[in-house]
Amino acid sequence: MGERWVVAVLVRAGDLVRVRGRWRRVRAARDELFPMGGPAVVLTFTQGAPWRVHAAEVVAVRRGATVIDSPSDWLLSPENSGSGPIAEMECTTCLDSSGPLDELDGLTGWCLAHARHVGHTGFRRTVTDFHRAARCDRVRGNLATDVPP
Ligand SMILES: [Zn+2]
Repeated sequence: MGERWVVAVLVRAGDLVRVRGRWRRVRAARDELFPMGGPAVVLTFTQGAPWRVHAAEVVAVRRGATVIDSPSDWLLSPENSGSGPIAEMECTTCLDSSGPLDELDGLTGWCLAHARHVGHTGFRRTVTDFHRAARCDRVRGNLATDVPP
């Protein structure tokens, strides 16, 4: 999760791509040929001019990040430093609950035991996960440390 370096041909709509030091949201990616030959990718953004790059050029991408304020200011990303997502199963008949668990086996086991012992067969799963907003400056700082030598 977070910043990755990928070849331009793998960039998809919705990705954030770093262009000349600024993160820009990709609206569409289209394959093309350079006038002199060779594969190219044309990226159009939610704002600003399109960018044509060689299909094999490596670009910095943030995938799954959501811009909340201005694209150049803040990014929202899943929080990776704490626990992973936590889920809870609730019986839709009697509202009995598994309590919060962070593993799928425990949730499945609770539901099957409840069905076996009580006979209720409908369940509602609620998943809780965490996100963190960060300024792009800090994101760029992290990105710099992720660059392979
Ligand atoms: Zn029940």
